[in-house]
Amino acid sequence: MAERKGLLLCVCQGTCPSFDKMDFFEILNTLRREQAVDWVALHPQLCAEDGDEFLKDLLTGGRVDKLYVAGCDPTMQRKMFRDALEAAGISREAHEGIEIRNLDTQEAISAIRDALGVKTEA
Ligand code: SF4
Repeated sequence: MAERKGLLLCVCQGTCPSFDKMDFFEILNTLRREQAVDWVALHPQLCAEDGDEFLKDLLTGGRVDKLYVAGCDPTMQRKMFRDALEAAGISREAHEGIEIRNLDTQEAISAIRDALGVKTEA
């Protein structure tokens, strides 16, 4: 069976200046139209307590093989999501963080495409 991949955009509640230059929905729409992943979604703050619960609910049950999270620094993400991944029984390798802070819409799309191994349009 093909690997199921999901992309979450996490955006510090949408109020952090690091995400000012990008259009979240254009990013998500572009990547879902390209079918770069099986699904895309937006979460305001995955590192909050309810974000942890969301990740547990999303990942428990084995429907997601690879979860990409575009947002803050991947090393920070690994630390912040460790407990939720563990509780869901998902390996750390199943999560891949993508740094998109301080990028504009096109730059963020390119960074995500690179992480997904999708060729950037000329
Ligand atoms: S997980 Fe990262 S991008 Fe998401 S709200 Fe927390 S600090 Fe911001």
